[in-house]
Amino acid sequence: MSAWEANVRRVDPYVPGEQPKEKDIIKLNTNENPYPPSPKVLAKAFELEKLRLYPDDKATLLVDEIAGYHGIKSSQVFVGVGSDDVLAMAFMTFFNSEKSILFPDITYSFYDVWAELFGIPYERPALDDSFNINAEDYYKENGGVVIANPNAPTGIARPISFIEDILKHNQDVVVIVDEAYVDFGGESALPLIDSYDNLLVVRTFSKSRSMAGLRIGYAMGSEKLIKYMSDVKFSYNSYTMNMPSIILGAESIKDDKYFKETVAKVVKTREWFKTEVEKIGFKVLPSATNFIFMSHDKISAKEIFDKARANKIFVRYFNKPRIDNYLRVTIGTRKDMETFLELLKNII
Ligand code: PMP
Repeated sequence: MSAWEANVRRVDPYVPGEQPKEKDIIKLNTNENPYPPSPKVLAKAFELEKLRLYPDDKATLLVDEIAGYHGIKSSQVFVGVGSDDVLAMAFMTFFNSEKSILFPDITYSFYDVWAELFGIPYERPALDDSFNINAEDYYKENGGVVIANPNAPTGIARPISFIEDILKHNQDVVVIVDEAYVDFGGESALPLIDSYDNLLVVRTFSKSRSMAGLRIGYAMGSEKLIKYMSDVKFSYNSYTMNMPSIILGAESIKDDKYFKETVAKVVKTREWFKTEVEKIGFKVLPSATNFIFMSHDKISAKEIFDKARANKIFVRYFNKPRIDNYLRVTIGTRKDMETFLELLKNII
């Protein structure tokens, strides 16, 4: 080992789902939307010549559009390069105490990676046997709370009253609610941001808005919270939001009809697919997302994962305690899901 390596910040990085190079894969492994972005986004002519200029460092066009959509002030919105960037900024900004932050043992697997990266102590209260978050686990003293609602990879959503209960017991720390999947059936905590100035609600364009490739995420909260986050961001990189993201992101927000139709299609396919796999013996957790978390008594998740892969259908398998017999299956088009269902029937 070279001497300089002793000073390297070492981390075990987050491992994203595979992005296969082959063309004919049915891709149900990374919770993307199977439908394209709004035709209005696709039709927006972007003048490439403009790229010689720096983008608006404040991403005003996009921020104003998001604020208007949610009926809040622009000063209550923070935008970033996907919600991963927004969440990382929030961890860096708000979790700066000696006390442990709290998030569930089974949740989005980036939270512990950021905690490790930024040297934030953390504890992971266990979900109960039905994979529900137990609010009382978050009543103790802590350095901050992070809840994905709906949770991932379980897909389970809790009502706003549950989030408010956690907030009532955590008024001295920042509470982050990651709502990456809320548009598919969850209840948002957004109405609480005016009553709790320590609540940060995080959203993404990657799932319900079919724009994972563009990388847009945002956070909403009190003006004070947003100001603190912006100060950290502008101390790190002024130009996180590129020009196409700002213009096309704003365009997507304008087409609410397309957004609602696409989400409704995914939800309809999810409910159909859930019923069908239950008929062949799968146990499926209640999902308020664009994926389902399912397991089978007779055949291991790993075996199904391998067989699906051999048949060019990619789903997600987590080799982790408690969830290693589950598969997380993104809801694709009805046709994708019919193909996968046929394969599952053959396997079983
Ligand atoms: N939060 C959760 C719970 C997620 O599952 C994901 C997707 N991997 C993200 C945040 C990040 O999504 P993005 O960076 O594409 O907005």
